[in-house]
Amino acid sequence: MNIPFHIPYVSGLEDINIAKTIAQLKTGKDISFVAQCEQKLKALTKSHQVLLTGSCTQALEMALLLLRLKPGDEVICPSFTYVSVVNAILKMGAIPVFVDCRDDTMNIDETLLKRAVSSSTKAMIIMHYAGVSCDMAAIQSFARSHQITIVEDAAHCMLAYNGMEHLGTFGDMGTISFHYTKNIHSFHGGCLLINNPELYDRALVLRDNGTNKNAFTNGIVDKYTWVDVGGNFGMSELVAACLHAQLEHVEQVTNERIQLWNHYYQACQEHKINCTQHTIGHNGHIFYIKCKNLLERNQLISHLKAVGVDARFHYQPLHQTAIGTSFKYITLGNHSKKASEMVLRLPLYFGMTKQEVDYVIQHVSNFYP
Ligand SMILES: *Cc1c(COP(=O)(O)O)cnc(C)c1O
Repeated sequence: MNIPFHIPYVSGLEDINIAKTIAQLKTGKDISFVAQCEQKLKALTKSHQVLLTGSCTQALEMALLLLRLKPGDEVICPSFTYVSVVNAILKMGAIPVFVDCRDDTMNIDETLLKRAVSSSTKAMIIMHYAGVSCDMAAIQSFARSHQITIVEDAAHCMLAYNGMEHLGTFGDMGTISFHYTKNIHSFHGGCLLINNPELYDRALVLRDNGTNKNAFTNGIVDKYTWVDVGGNFGMSELVAACLHAQLEHVEQVTNERIQLWNHYYQACQEHKINCTQHTIGHNGHIFYIKCKNLLERNQLISHLKAVGVDARFHYQPLHQTAIGTSFKYITLGNHSKKASEMVLRLPLYFGMTKQEVDYVIQHVSNFYP
């Protein structure tokens, strides 16, 4: 048996869309997969506007540029997350203030926010781990009372919800990743969800190297020029061709992942394995179990490897890194460190069978006496 940790999804329509893109290029006609994907994502998320970007990392950088952060401004963010967030903050000359996570969801601990806020706090970037929503009611009410802008790193969250609302649509902006490690992907890719309509026009400018090229293309101005500090943040048509192919099947991919996730959950209950909580609204992005400690987890990883199962740990806390130690970290129980040592993600991908899930859980169960 050989069960990889992840197999990137392939819809089968990618080749056709790529061929179409190249054919259109030869005729000089406008290619439109970027625009089509943006419309589709807008309909799926109900965000005010969606802009495709080269990656979720680029979308986060655009989001912080849009907030006009100045050197010395503080941005609250989790420690248990990916580095894109903190790079984006530091590139603006702003200062990250790390906040610990909850020990159940691994999402930012909303009860610690009041200890993280200062007169310099301008924004907070939250991350919905595994497509499970942060406590948005508490976070939104906190942000409102302190006049802090919320940006949601919804990298994991394609088709993940809190109630009826798609994750990434609660804050002024949200970002989704289409990296090949995510549920659907375009090799590399991402998008920026713009929920505050006031930000849209400037977002178009920033994505086009700070020029008003979009206004020119639409006949609003008669020549285009440099008007702001931006970047080349857009997604290539060739990449959008792949994303379009995958968006056609996004509901099916998500449903199948959720079914596998539920099968894992059921099997863990039967074998009394300590695993993630059961919640609704998530998209089956990650299924994880929690080991007692780092030693036990290392032994379990080796045990699984020996039977052909590739299980993986996740983020190393940012506050513990060489750069991260110089910033504030608000915590009571250092759950970020515990999560980094205890979380073990099990294989989960479209096309995996329930028998394979049973095989994984059987071997996890065998490990425990
Ligand atoms: C994957 C991921 C990113 C980065 O996404 P890219 O599209 O690879 O730039 C950012 N944040 C989180 C939480 C992620 O999981």
